[in-house]
Amino acid sequence: MKIVIIGAGFAGLRFLYDIKKHFGNEMEIVIIDERKTSLEKPSLVEVALAGRPVSHTQIPIKDIARSQNVEFINSMHIRLNQKVIL
Ligand SMILES: Cc1cc2nc3c(=O)[nH]c(=O)nc-3n(C[C@H](O)[C@H](O)[C@H](O)COP(=O)(O)OP(=O)(O)OC[C@H]3O[C@@H](n4cnc5c(N)ncnc54)[C@H](O)[C@@H]3O)c2cc1C
Repeated sequence: MKIVIIGAGFAGLRFLYDIKKHFGNEMEIVIIDERKTSLEKPSLVEVALAGRPVSHTQIPIKDIARSQNVEFINSMHIRLNQKVIL
């Protein structure tokens, strides 16, 4: 089975980590994001109040994909083909 995750933000990455925890490398996973980095929004507070660099909040998605052994496509997703094959 192949799983495609659109968006490497909070929800997408949470889903990725959970599914890897449950299925390991059983599933082929592709993650798509229009950005090259995932913005860790809660860490923005440290930028505003603790003088941390903005880069502290931006995690390269290719590094996450490599560490999780999944494919990363850096692209904007426009629409879904709703045809589902079970
Ligand atoms: C300062 C701050 C602190 C926060 N603290 C918390 C907290 O402690 N706990 C908590 O639960 N929430 C917290 N939040 C809220 C939390 O960050 C958001 O609710 C969360 O980021 C939403 O997750 P998401 O995956 O839906 O969207 P996002 O994290 O915004 O991710 C969406 C991703 O999808 C990509 N994308 C969008 N459209 C497309 C497209 N068409 N094609 C390809 N890619 C696309 C974007 O590039 C982005 O990477 C905080 C927010 C802020 C600002």
